[in-house]
Amino acid sequence: MRCDLHVHTTASDGTVTPTALITQACETGIGRLAISDHDTLAGYDEAAKSLSTDASASLELIPGIELSTQWEKTGIHVLGLNFNPASDAIRDAVYHQQGARQRRAERIAEKLEKLGIPDPLAGASRIAEAAPIGRPHFAQYLIESGVVANTEIAFKKYLGAGKAGDVREYWASMPQIIEWIREAGGTAVLAHPAKYNLTKSKLVRLIDAFRDAGGLGMEVISGAQSDGETERLAKLCNQKNLLGSVGSDFHRPGQRWAMLGHVPLIPGSCTPVWDQW
Ligand code: AMP
Ligand code: MN
Ligand code: MN
Ligand code: MN
Repeated sequence: MRCDLHVHTTASDGTVTPTALITQACETGIGRLAISDHDTLAGYDEAAKSLSTDASASLELIPGIELSTQWEKTGIHVLGLNFNPASDAIRDAVYHQQGARQRRAERIAEKLEKLGIPDPLAGASRIAEAAPIGRPHFAQYLIESGVVANTEIAFKKYLGAGKAGDVREYWASMPQIIEWIREAGGTAVLAHPAKYNLTKSKLVRLIDAFRDAGGLGMEVISGAQSDGETERLAKLCNQKNLLGSVGSDFHRPGQRWAMLGHVPLIPGSCTPVWDQW
């Protein structure tokens, strides 16, 4: 069965509504889907509702969320999968992280204003609409204001690691995040481990810290990636006795490296996260 356990909707920084995403996932032949919006369950909630009223949709929708944190000054993302969406623990996590996201947005805006950008908070809020404000919303505002030509440059100059938008101190700690997910009955999965630009030894230390805090899995596949990359991550996953997960990290159509449902198969050597659900 085709699985995609990491996708975004308009509830965070994606461009496809949760309802449309369900339709597209069915058309793509996905059998098991987790909507994992940044620090919100609104997309999952809406998708679950639309799935329950659409008799033609045959899809297993797994509750998901992508929670932001930091470890040793590196911004890290933890996926919560297959938790009880009504649990106090996951609702506490969302409440805390959304407060953190708002305070972080205010701090980022202050720093951008000092760099001469007018009204960044109002601009990013307008673009985010009901979604918790994220850096992609600031990026969009910088493009609309004519400050930068595209998102890549916005991250390179203003929002990426070491720049004004790199504000991490408001997030809950990694152990706290993992505890919320566990308490909610879910599986904590380290998202896209290769994307943090860590040295091999530092990545191993991150994985050890993640495991020591109760993390159970890691993404072995994140979007389109080479066979060599899959092999390297599968080896690490098995060495550390973690479960393996698979996700496209889909945000919008047209990004060839993150297409909905277009992910390599998980290697047979890995135990998939869904085996224990
Ligand atoms: P935030 O959740 O506010 O920290 O924003 C992080 C999100 O920004 C990621 O989930 C991606 O969707 C997006 N992002 C991160 N880095 C880049 C980049 N270099 N170019 C485009 N989008 C990025
Ligand atoms: Mn994102
Ligand atoms: Mn992420
Ligand atoms: Mn993501």
